[in-house]
Amino acid sequence: MTNPNVRVRIAPSPTGNLHVGTARTALFNWLFAKKYNGRFILRIEDTDLERSDEKYTRNIFDSLKAIGLDWDEGPDIGGEFGPYKQSERNEIYEKYAKKLLESGHAYYCYCTRDELENEKEQAKQEKRDYIYSGRCRRLSEDEAKNYTEQGRTPVIRFTMPEKQLLFNDLVKGEINFDTSLTGDFVIMKSNNTPTYNFAVVIDDMEMQISHVIRGEDHISNTPRQIFIYEALGAQVPQFAHVGMILAPDRSKLSKRHGATAVSEFIEQGYLPEAFVNFLALLGWSSPDEQEVKPFDEIASLFSLDRVSSTPAVFELDKLNWLNGTYIRNLPIEELSERSKKYLSEFDLSIYSEKQLHAIIDAVRNNLAKLNELPGAVSYFFGEAPDIDDEIRENILKTEQSQKILTEFARLAPDLGYSDVESIHEQLGEFRKQMKPVKPRDVMWAIRAALTGRTQGADISIVISILGKKRVLHRIQNAITAPV
Ligand code: GLU
Repeated sequence: MTNPNVRVRIAPSPTGNLHVGTARTALFNWLFAKKYNGRFILRIEDTDLERSDEKYTRNIFDSLKAIGLDWDEGPDIGGEFGPYKQSERNEIYEKYAKKLLESGHAYYCYCTRDELENEKEQAKQEKRDYIYSGRCRRLSEDEAKNYTEQGRTPVIRFTMPEKQLLFNDLVKGEINFDTSLTGDFVIMKSNNTPTYNFAVVIDDMEMQISHVIRGEDHISNTPRQIFIYEALGAQVPQFAHVGMILAPDRSKLSKRHGATAVSEFIEQGYLPEAFVNFLALLGWSSPDEQEVKPFDEIASLFSLDRVSSTPAVFELDKLNWLNGTYIRNLPIEELSERSKKYLSEFDLSIYSEKQLHAIIDAVRNNLAKLNELPGAVSYFFGEAPDIDDEIRENILKTEQSQKILTEFARLAPDLGYSDVESIHEQLGEFRKQMKPVKPRDVMWAIRAALTGRTQGADISIVISILGKKRVLHRIQNAITAPV
């Protein structure tokens, strides 16, 4: 399906690192653009100059790229409808504000903060909801002049039409708004910069955005935005409001629930392809209900019909499960390459690439994310493993274990270390030989002596990778040291 008129956008504010919610919205927009061979635009909404920071803009770029979402137009690459940063577009907003003033859809409002507070107070006393009274709607020229002479700097307010608004949301369906509780709202602040509701309309209109796909937290802004389009005689885009992402306790997902920035997840070692798969499932489901879906399949299957209007719950267990699945399925050379940056504390040069692959392959089954690697591989490095007291006391020091290890020490020099299969068979024989000791106890003793743990990678592989010298040394240590 090709429709070059499809132009969608993501418009993050650079007031923090790219949030998973924004990334999910970016992904849905990106997928929608791809589906129609349309364009995906990145616009930076940095009108809040005090809270905006260049470092967050960079984080937004880097995080989107990290999860494979590239854009066709944006602040860094330009495009036909630039600039793509709101702070560089003020003249454009001024031009349209003037147009609305001239056509009578907007007016200067000179009310002071105190005056507005009084209005609010009065509404409270009269037990009615507050909306701005509109007292500056019809100021005479003299009144306006008077206020200016008093040193008041006006804002510009939009004149809300008195009518019901009905629109068809592509996710939520038909939405009917009672706008009687929406007063005339500010579109240009007294410092001559636009408010969100105004800038977003002007930008979407100028950038010829065809579909606005965003979180449902913006649904209450939509009537205001539609009225501005109408006042300007502009085409209203199609809206699609996607259900929010909630924490498991069904509150808004925030820092107190753990990481919320895409870059934090990537640093922790969630594979971008797993993360993007997880993001897609936060509000979209595949027609075949399969959850593990590579990006290209998601791209070919995506449609707004399968996007949910109800909230999605961010389940870390599911992300861990998905990531573990991707870790297990990645070609070992690739996984090994990606793992290296998590292993900087170890001297990897003691192993060949092939051995390193074998180590990573041996531990990957138990990994949820790559930053668990140091803990998972530590016993492959150094002369002796770290053994915690409980394992030393309850496993290594027992009479039974000491007997097992003494027997094993006899076998260990001749295990033939390069052949994992043969090590495996010999261990099988050894377990039989040790009867009536339970096979599990036999393996625990050996594993604890070699790795300091009671579980981990396949022990035959561990033995093969550690090699004869270290195996003998560790067994010997376990026999003599703890007693
Ligand atoms: N800057 C707004 C946000 O990040 C954009 C909202 C919109 O898409 O209209 O929430």
